[in-house]
Amino acid sequence: MQKILISGCLIGQKVRYHGKDALCQHGILDKWQQEGRLVAVCPEVSAGLPVPRPSSEIVGSGGGQAVLAGKARVITHNGIDRTEAFILGANKALQVATEHHIKIAILKSNSPSCGNNTIYDGTYTGKTIAGTGTTAALLSQNGLTVFNENQLHEAETFLFKLENDTSC
Ligand code: SF4
Repeated sequence: MQKILISGCLIGQKVRYHGKDALCQHGILDKWQQEGRLVAVCPEVSAGLPVPRPSSEIVGSGGGQAVLAGKARVITHNGIDRTEAFILGANKALQVATEHHIKIAILKSNSPSCGNNTIYDGTYTGKTIAGTGTTAALLSQNGLTVFNENQLHEAETFLFKLENDTSC
């Protein structure tokens, strides 16, 4: 059975920067939870960051890939450089995924760690731009397919193909 990596905040863990969750109540997640597929991670907490903590954004172009390449930084709204912690958290999430042979992740949209399509733009004004968070980028680079909480039907279809693909 394929397991699925999921952002802890999406299943109710109060690990977000403001101390709350981002609970996503959806029948697909309920089913996966009952099947024992979900493996929760919070890269930022795994890296030792506290709850609550100052919010962070990726500053510089290129999103998470650029952070991993040393070409952009992750900075809190009050100017603290969290780049190393975000890279550490991404590696810890990858380690969990590897241990469980995970090929699919459902990660929280827009997050500088978890965003898969869009992230906050680095101006701390709530604007988003195309790009991936640091963890989403590292997981993608290592072969995982990353969805967000608004793409659960696509993820379900992908999972079905993964488990029913007899061509390999
Ligand atoms: S790092 Fe990811 S899992 Fe942790 S609170 Fe942020 S979005 Fe949720």
